[in-house]
Order: sequence, then structure tokens, then C-alpha cells
Amino acid sequence: MQLQELLFSQGFGTRRVCAGLIQHGHVTLDEQAVTDAAFDVDAQEGLRYTVQGKPWEYHAKAYVVLNKPAGTECSQKPSTWPSVYTLLPDPLRQRPVKGGVDGVQAVGRLDQDTTGLLLLSDDGKFLHRMASPRHHVPKVYEAALKHPLDEAQLARLREGVVLDDDPRPVRALAAERLEERLLQLTLDEGKYHQVKRMVAAAGNRVEALHRARVGQLQLPPELAPGEWRWLTAAEVESLF
Ligand code: URA
Repeated sequence: MQLQELLFSQGFGTRRVCAGLIQHGHVTLDEQAVTDAAFDVDAQEGLRYTVQGKPWEYHAKAYVVLNKPAGTECSQKPSTWPSVYTLLPDPLRQRPVKGGVDGVQAVGRLDQDTTGLLLLSDDGKFLHRMASPRHHVPKVYEAALKHPLDEAQLARLREGVVLDDDPRPVRALAAERLEERLLQLTLDEGKYHQVKRMVAAAGNRVEALHRARVGQLQLPPELAPGEWRWLTAAEVESLF
């Protein structure tokens, strides 16, 4: 693949902008500036290069995990709080996507005050699969509660509670007490405010909510709130 085309595919701007970056010596491969926009690159997954001194990796499709901080909205056009997308570098937000909206998109939404594991991708199939209720991808939440959690509340969460928008009860795949006021809840669907509404229906109240796991993927412990990283190939495979 031509170097100009590679940069274009990774969200560094129009082909003309990418050619300019290269010709001005702002792009390095193996620590050497390459100034020929047509330079032929073996575009392997994970190939490392730098643009204007910043390290990058080539990925044909982007799959990233972000540790969402509280006080951010999972929307491109937030109403009140800053958008989670502002935590990502411009190229990830601008990658050209054939037949779709450019840039990575969040897999589902977390409330502005919810923290933890948020996946983002520009792969339409992946986004569709992860969002589809048919695929039953388990999501593990930790909810700090206002009142001590008792056995009756746990039983209600496991057996099913009725929410206000659907007469069919929704049940947790698992509900465990981690501490007196700390609940671990595993769900395989993603209705609006589902954890908060289920906990309220079971007779308690969520004071803080954190997503710790999606499928087999735990929130990477090295990611501070607001940080992101690429998923490894094995992590991506485990989610498909
Ligand atoms: N359930 C909620 O209530 N809020 C979230 O952000 C996610 C799940």
C-alpha cells in the first residue's frame, strides 16, 4: 500500500493532506523519515510509524477500549457534558468508513455518570453484532448502592423485575453481593438505564455505576479514567 493511502485510511486527513505530511518529512517508518508519498509499505496489522513525532499503529479496522470517566456523554453531539469522543485522538475520530459514518463509534451507550469499559470501533459488523440483543454478550457492572443489599433484593434481580416500559420481567444473568452496599450485576441486554431501573425495582438505589467487563474482556487495569488502547487481535477475536 502506498504510504499516502495508508495515512489516509488511518484518518490523517485527505490524500492531499497526507501527501503533504509525508513530503514535509513528518512521517517516519523504522525511525527514518520517508518523504515519498508513493512509498510502498507492507501494511501489516500493528505496523508502527510516527506522524509529527507521535507513535501510531496501523490497523485495517479500529477496535479500541476506553476507560470512560464520569461526567462524559457517549454522544457525538452531547447535550451537557463533554463527549467521550474528545478523549480519542483526531485520526480515530476521522478514519474514513465506507458506507458509514466516519470514525469509530461507541458500542452502545453508558450514562454520563457511569464509568468503566467502553468499546469503540469503525467495523460495522462488529458494532451491529455487539449491539444486537440476539448475541447476548454478557456485561458485568458494579453498582454502589444507597442501602445495604439483602437476599430478597438479590433474589428479585435474579428472578426478574418488571420495568415501566415492558410487562415482561427482565432478569440478571447473575447478581452477587461484593460488599454490604456493592452489587455485581451481569446483564445480557442493554435497555435504557437498565441497571439503575432494575435496582430501583428491586428496592434499592444505585449511587455509582461502573462497567467492569464485556464478554471475556475485563477493563484493562493499566487504563486510567479517560485513557484508551487498541484491543489485541486475541481480544477482538474473543468478542466476535
Ligand atoms: N445501566 C444503567 O443504568 N446505566 C448505564 O450506564 C449502563 C447500564
